[in-house]
Amino acid sequence: MNSFHRRGVLSGLAVGAGGLLGGTALAADLEPSRGPGWGGTNPGPRNPAREAENPDMINPPATDHGTLPNLRFSFEDSHIRQESGGWTRQITERELGVSKSIAGVNMRLNAGGIRELHWHKEAEWAFMLYGNARITAIDPQGRNFVDDVGVGDLWYFPSGIPHSIQGLGPDGCEFLLVFDSGGFDEDSTFLLSDWFKHTPTEVLAKNFGLPASLFGHTPDPSSLYIFKAPVPGPLGPDRLLGAEPVPQSFKHRMLAQEPIRTKSGTVRITDSSHFPASKTIAAALVEVEPGGMRELHWHPNADEWQYYIEGKARMGVFATSGQARTFDYQPGDVGYVPFAMGHYIENTGTTTLRFLEMFKSSYYADLSLNQWLALTPPDLLQAHLRLDPEVMGALRKEKVPVVPA
Ligand code: MN
Ligand code: MN
Repeated sequence: MNSFHRRGVLSGLAVGAGGLLGGTALAADLEPSRGPGWGGTNPGPRNPAREAENPDMINPPATDHGTLPNLRFSFEDSHIRQESGGWTRQITERELGVSKSIAGVNMRLNAGGIRELHWHKEAEWAFMLYGNARITAIDPQGRNFVDDVGVGDLWYFPSGIPHSIQGLGPDGCEFLLVFDSGGFDEDSTFLLSDWFKHTPTEVLAKNFGLPASLFGHTPDPSSLYIFKAPVPGPLGPDRLLGAEPVPQSFKHRMLAQEPIRTKSGTVRITDSSHFPASKTIAAALVEVEPGGMRELHWHPNADEWQYYIEGKARMGVFATSGQARTFDYQPGDVGYVPFAMGHYIENTGTTTLRFLEMFKSSYYADLSLNQWLALTPPDLLQAHLRLDPEVMGALRKEKVPVVPA
């Protein structure tokens, strides 16, 4: 990219950010200077692609203060494990140190590609991003579950429940997995083929009541994990295997839920009150139109783990002791808000911003700054903030998750 082109691209970004910040960020190049007398130029070395992704790191709002941990990690910075049936990558506490309560995996299964039958200690929640898959599981009571999932569908497999995922036609699938522990490792799950391989054939023979000569032919586990297979047939015959289905479906159609709508966006909330199987992960799917903002709020029950699906965002996070920091997000980024910290998320792009918020909790809960102030005795509030009467009159007793209302 020549210098003229680069200046054009970057100044376009800076103008966009400046507009939304009310003029605190400057146009021109992305030099680390928020105005005359502040910061300076950056003689280099420079990485223009990274600079363009971080306008609010390079020129933070003047209200940012103190030190907060890193609250962003991109799946594009994660190692990809490639196998014959697809690929996988993960963001855990090893990549994003603050993320102790949740880890995430982004996985692609080609048509027919199978994520091997397995289980793990952590519960698994998933959001389908692209295509279709067939998922299977059984529960401890010997009831089974087989269903197909498409874009916007969720699944939830409780801790220790064995399951599989297989890409369907025409082009398999891509999905986000969320685990209720930051220490999860997608490379450390209990694999069916592994167990067969590491159990004496005589023991397998005794277990299944058959001659030992019938065992010992299990493929090397390194050839499974995510492996190539034919696209399965219709769902019906696969379902007939179960004598009895699980009482609470492990699937939920999140996108089919009627959202909370405001003038500037939508919010769909899915927790165990909508999706009873999902006991340890609560979620919200948020859409914010250009110029809109997920309002100032916080959560009284858990850390927030975010996944950015499309659009561009800026999140400001407020901690105790006057600490505040601003982060920029792109599609494929994971964002994080430590327990109880205040935050807002602005759409800084020209298209719809779409992201997921996940919580290690059976229920979703948030507190709205606006609603809190509206429901506080006015004299008490005024003793603190001395707000203009116009501000006092505009406070809303009803929660509006995406503003402008
Ligand atoms: Mn799993
Ligand atoms: Mn939030």
